[in-house]
Amino acid sequence: MITKYYSNKDEIYNTYDKDDLGFVYSKESTTFKVWAPAASQVLLKLYSTGSYQEDGATVLAIKQMRKDELTGVWEKTVLGDLHGVYYTYVVQNGNKSSETQDVYSKATGVNSARSMVVDLERTNPQGWENDKHIFVDEQTNAIVWEVHVRDFSSSNTSGVSKQHRGTYLAFTETDTKVPYTNAKTCLSYLKDLGITHVQLNPVFDFGSVNEETCVEYNWGYDPVNYCVPEGSYSTDPYHGEVRIKEFKEMVKALHDNGIGVIMDVVYNHMYSGDDSCFEKTVPDYYFRKQGNRYLNSSGCGNVTASEKIMYRKYMIDSLKYWVEEYHIDGFRFDLMACHDVDTMNQIREELDKIDRRILIYGEPWTADNGDNGISGEDCCSKSNAHKLSSRIGMFNDDMRNGIKGGSDDDTKGYIQGSSFDTYKVLAGMLGASSDTFGRWAKRPSQCVTYASAHDNLTLWDKLLKSNWLNDFDTTESRIIDQNKLSATFILMSLGIPFMLAGEEFARTKYGDHNSYRSPDSVNSIDWSRTIKYKELIDYYKGLIAIRKKFSLLTDSSENAVHKTYMTYNGKVIAGTMANIHASDDEYKYMAIVLNNTNEKCPFELKSKYDLPNRWYVIVDHDSASGEAIREFDNNMEIRPNSALVIVDADSYDRLHGAVEKNTIPSSSDNKY
Ligand code: CA
Repeated sequence: MITKYYSNKDEIYNTYDKDDLGFVYSKESTTFKVWAPAASQVLLKLYSTGSYQEDGATVLAIKQMRKDELTGVWEKTVLGDLHGVYYTYVVQNGNKSSETQDVYSKATGVNSARSMVVDLERTNPQGWENDKHIFVDEQTNAIVWEVHVRDFSSSNTSGVSKQHRGTYLAFTETDTKVPYTNAKTCLSYLKDLGITHVQLNPVFDFGSVNEETCVEYNWGYDPVNYCVPEGSYSTDPYHGEVRIKEFKEMVKALHDNGIGVIMDVVYNHMYSGDDSCFEKTVPDYYFRKQGNRYLNSSGCGNVTASEKIMYRKYMIDSLKYWVEEYHIDGFRFDLMACHDVDTMNQIREELDKIDRRILIYGEPWTADNGDNGISGEDCCSKSNAHKLSSRIGMFNDDMRNGIKGGSDDDTKGYIQGSSFDTYKVLAGMLGASSDTFGRWAKRPSQCVTYASAHDNLTLWDKLLKSNWLNDFDTTESRIIDQNKLSATFILMSLGIPFMLAGEEFARTKYGDHNSYRSPDSVNSIDWSRTIKYKELIDYYKGLIAIRKKFSLLTDSSENAVHKTYMTYNGKVIAGTMANIHASDDEYKYMAIVLNNTNEKCPFELKSKYDLPNRWYVIVDHDSASGEAIREFDNNMEIRPNSALVIVDADSYDRLHGAVEKNTIPSSSDNKY
């Protein structure tokens, strides 16, 4: 039972559980259904265009809808082929009459004001019937790259054709390069990187960018229509079917290249409470309110009520629609602690009925806990992780801070040489699932491991800021060393690795820590940096490839932590992993070693299992190619500010063919 701090109209209103809200289209007729239990009258208004500004805009018809008292649903069937016809509802609640787009809109005209009837079959790009989801067996097999549709290609360095820059269709361009170079960009770049999924910043319809001009920039965390693609990323926002088709083309292009698509969903608040279709259709129902005041745990002016029967149903219907109609492979929930535990668990169950591999994770916090309207016991925070499905992940901000210090300030974490929060890093390396080192997750599949996301300073900007001017050595090479240590943490830990697009080539927003409405000049990905920072990209790429060859790193079970022996001697972190049931096509033993000091340091590999005698170093300060760099013995020291990854020689020889004697340096030859 959820503790609520506001009135509950679920006790008054009849609800509806069928899946035909919105419209059901056929060539012969379209049936409209809208849940409006408090309304005394609902009119259906049909228009020839999607906005009143358009030339030739005409009201085609106004139809009276009929209420089913048992469910509170208003219904009207209109004969004829209505594909491309725009519509609104005029809802009379008390003495207030509001014209609104449909809560269940699937298509809209420009800037969201009118819904559109769409024959979805006609929006399918060529080959769509053969398009397949990109799923990984466990959440921990995913490697996520977070990108904003506009940032991806808005710069001329993207090499994308001018008419597609900043749009969905930029994702369909192949063989793009930084102009006058051979450096790959966009889709062809991603193919080489080895990530499994892109996570797109909001791509549902949001309100902060005028779709007609696209002059302003916004991340898009201000939803207007949850089941409609955003129009400003389309080549034609006026005709509702175009953006749907172009969105599907984007998904298909990524899928064709083996990359899955995760949507960032923001069901926790809307662009405006009063002006939203939800409030106009059923006043004081879909949002948490005290009297006329919207509670504001989102920090954005209002918070929706996931625990209400019809909003919970809406979230589930909407998510299923994105999976089934657009072939979306996973969801990242913004401010997930605004939602209640029961809703998120039901979402997991409902999506499992489609496919249990659909990814789910989110931010385990709100912007203001005190104004959330549901108790701390009921919301999806880390402390309630044990109440959630083990396949609902959460961003591990403890690990993030332990790695690099505070997100926007000049404090240091482990990679800049601080030992203050090392325990957070150790716990994070074990997917926040270890009783010994610190635990909030049930399993590593609940833990998203990251150092940077769209919020806050980019990792590069954070490193520039936190390497204080009086430091011993703050040259760029030093910062690259720190970035490599961070990459090692992210990719060589249990859990779900996640990174901001371009983290791997020193992405900068020039110190802008909250660029949500900053211009393209700040937000655009500068693809020319892939040339200057190729060494860093190669390091990430190598670690990604190694991760895929060691299943203990992607083990999502509770047992994974017990096969890893972590040590920290005040300087060096060493995690020795015994993958005792390794298959023939992967490594059996691996050690991940990190040194954040300015001196070379000894370290020791420890395990509760018998360890092999022969080891090879496959990652060091300079290279993460995965090739054997040198032999290893226990007298070896690790270079300052660097990482080592070591694997057992038997597995290496089995995987790569035996290393010819004397072709790699023995440990005694090493120049450390
Ligand atoms: Ca919009």
